Amino acid sequence: MTKFRTLDDLGDVTGKVALVRVDLNLPMQDGAVTDDTRVRAAAPTILELAEKGAKVLLLAHFGRPKGERVSTQSLSMVIDAVQDVLGKEVMFVPEIAGPVVEQTVGILRAGDIAILENTRFWKGEEKNDPELAKAIAANADIYVNDAFSAAHRAHATTEGLAHVLPAYAGRSMEAELKALEKALGQPDRPVAAVVGGAKVSSKLDVLTHLVTQVDHLIIGGGMANTFLAARGVNVGKSLCEHDLAATAEKILEAADQSGCTVHLPYDVVVAKEFAANPASLRTCNVHEVAADEMILDVGPQAVEALADVLKTCRTLVWNGPLGAFETQPFDAATVALARSAAALSKEGALVSVAGGGDTVAALNHAGVADDFTYISTAGGAFLEWMEGKELPGVKALEQA
Ligand code: ADP
Ligand code: MG
Repeated sequence: MTKFRTLDDLGDVTGKVALVRVDLNLPMQDGAVTDDTRVRAAAPTILELAEKGAKVLLLAHFGRPKGERVSTQSLSMVIDAVQDVLGKEVMFVPEIAGPVVEQTVGILRAGDIAILENTRFWKGEEKNDPELAKAIAANADIYVNDAFSAAHRAHATTEGLAHVLPAYAGRSMEAELKALEKALGQPDRPVAAVVGGAKVSSKLDVLTHLVTQVDHLIIGGGMANTFLAARGVNVGKSLCEHDLAATAEKILEAADQSGCTVHLPYDVVVAKEFAANPASLRTCNVHEVAADEMILDVGPQAVEALADVLKTCRTLVWNGPLGAFETQPFDAATVALARSAAALSKEGALVSVAGGGDTVAALNHAGVADDFTYISTAGGAFLEWMEGKELPGVKALEQA
C-alpha cells in the first residue's frame, strides 16, 4: 500500500491550525441528532489534535444544499451532539474561509475546537475549485482527513485541500484503510466474499471486480435469483432481473477463468406473499420453487455449507444481506452465517470486514457487529472500494 502520513507523523502542532475533514452528516429528526456514531468515530482524531495543542477547525458537509446557504442545513445544528461526544465546548463559525475564520483563529487558544459551516453552502466545494481550497487553507497550517465515507468524492475539502496543505490521515481514516488493505489489498488467503442484497444491477461492478480478487464468491439475496434464473432455474415470482441473464453468465465465466468458486444457494426459503411469518412459508430445493412463490432467503442446508466454506478461509469481505432480513423469518440465513463468521473472527481464524447500509443493520440485528474484525459505515465509499476503484480523497493523501 502506498504510504500516507498519519497523526504519528505530525511533529509539534502547538498553536498550529488544523483543518480536520470529518463526517458530520448526522441523521436528524425534529432538529435533534438521532445517531451520533459518526461523531464518535471522529472523536479520537479531534481530541488527539486538541490534546497536542492544535487549534482544531472541523470541516464537514450536511445534506445537499447545492451551493446555497440553506438555514435548515446549517452545521450549527449538530453543535450540541458534537459537544456531548467530545465533552468539550465547541465554537461555531458561520463561514469556511475569509476574515471571519481568520478572526476566529485569532481568538482560539491551543486545544480549542470550532466547527465551520456546511462546506456544501459554497459552490466550489463539490466542483473541487482550487481557489476555494486555497482560501480555506489560507487560515490553517495542516489538513487532516478523517472522513473515509466522503473519500469517494473529489471535493475541495475531501481532495483539494490535500494538495495545498501538509495532509494527514486521521485515526478513523487510518483504521479504515488498514482494515480494507487487510481484506482485499494484501489479504491472507483463501479469501471469501459474500455479496447479497436486492439487485445485481446495483452491484455489477462489485461482482465483476471481486471474481478477480477472491477465492470464493458467495452470492445471496435477490441477486442470487438473477444468477439462478440465468442458469435455467425457475425462480417463480422472486425479485429477479431477467434482462441481466447474459451479464450474470459473463460474471460466472470470469469467475471460472480466475479460479474463483461461485456459491449459489441450493435450498431456499420461499413464500407466496411477502409478509412476516406467512402461512405459505416453506423451504425447498431451488429447482422446486413454484410459479407463484418468491425466494426470500437462502435455505438452512446452503447456509451450513457456506459456514464450512468460511472455515477454510482466512479472510472475508461481506456486503449485502442473504435474504429479506427486515422481515421474519427471512433474516435466518444472514443471522446464521454472520454468527459463524463472528465466531471464526473471535477465535482469530478469520479477518472479517463488512460494509453497506443494510449490511451494517443486518449485522447489528444478528448481534455480531462487535465480533467482526472491522465494520465500515462508509456506505458509498465502501462500495466503490469493493469495486476496486481508487478513491480520490485517499489518493490525494497518498501523494501528499
Ligand atoms: P447494502 O445496503 O448493505 O449495500 P443492499 O441495499 O444492496 O445492501 O440490499 C439490501 C436489501 O436487499 C434489503 O432491503 C433486503 O430486504 C433485500 N433483499 C435481500 N434478499 C432479498 C430477496 N431474496 N428478495 C427481495 N429482497 C431481498
Ligand atoms: Mg442498501
